[in-house]
Amino acid sequence: MHGSHGAAVRGRAHADTAADGAIVVVHHPIRYPHEQHPKGAETIEVAPGILWARVPLPFRLNHVNCWLIRETNGWTLIDTGTANPEARAVWEALFQGVLAGAPIVRLIATHGHTDHVGLSGWLSEKSGGAPFHITLVEWLSATLRIDEARSPLRPENIKFLNSHGCDTDTIEGFADERRRTHAQMVPLPPAIERLKNGTRLTFGGRQWETMVCGGHAAEHASFWCAEDNLLIAGDQVLSKISPMIGVFPTEPEADPLTEYLASLDRFRALPADALVLPSHGLPFTGLHTRVEELAYHHGLRLAELERLMERPSTAMDLARGLFPKPVAEGQARHAFSETLAHANHLMTHGRAVRTLDGQGRYLFARAR
Ligand SMILES: [Zn+2]
Repeated sequence: MHGSHGAAVRGRAHADTAADGAIVVVHHPIRYPHEQHPKGAETIEVAPGILWARVPLPFRLNHVNCWLIRETNGWTLIDTGTANPEARAVWEALFQGVLAGAPIVRLIATHGHTDHVGLSGWLSEKSGGAPFHITLVEWLSATLRIDEARSPLRPENIKFLNSHGCDTDTIEGFADERRRTHAQMVPLPPAIERLKNGTRLTFGGRQWETMVCGGHAAEHASFWCAEDNLLIAGDQVLSKISPMIGVFPTEPEADPLTEYLASLDRFRALPADALVLPSHGLPFTGLHTRVEELAYHHGLRLAELERLMERPSTAMDLARGLFPKPVAEGQARHAFSETLAHANHLMTHGRAVRTLDGQGRYLFARAR
């Protein structure tokens, strides 16, 4: 899931109040060079040789941006969409259209989530085995998720969900998500070229530096081109929605929010006027403003969670207070994962404590 809008931002110098009451920073406002996104198998050239394609997803978040990068000898493709028929149809149309007559010479994945690598194995086959660049952890974790989907949730996983007060419907939501994996992903390419933080890559005639960050995924890769002031951001920085930061049954004690907030410093260090190519939504400029909005958005959530913890509560109860609408609309498991990420962050920073009640459930309380 990707969370709600993070429109409000702390007022700083030259802050102003927008019509909806949100405070916006006006010295580096967010601007969108393209008001429209590409439709069907259309592409839009967002920088010389970088084509933007929009692949449909069968989720609430209904699309992912994929980047088609022109090489002298073919194409580099970044990210893929899920393995649903609509996404395959868009790719087939791209192969008949803009990609016709030249080979795929390289595949790159920003991270291992379904919407980014679901079709990477299929595209790899189509390319005759072009090199596939991804971080090791993301390749392994996506491969593991496909494998896990063959078996039901294990008792340890259910125990974890019970210990945080999850109801049967929410647990069933996790089980269901697991079962659906096979419809959304084909097996990943069987070999990789490993991306690490700082790896320098040349594609599309430009030099890119790989920025590996945690938070949204364990080893998410963004790509920075200093010469042309371009950032292929993946999901790490999105223009309107806040990337999902969640704790899942595979790593119950994780604190991804601390990693995510730390990663934002790396983007603060890039030029304010960089053109950002995110995996969802529209390309934009105004990176620093967006980073402050994202940080502030999480700050608000943390403060609200602290307030809710005045009454010692399970993570699931806190999720109902923090995200009443998503819970009511059947997004309880996302709300739970995101709430637990915020609770674990508060624990790391000494702002919350956790105790076990008589029924083996964890209660979070505000630290005194
Ligand atoms: Zn993602």
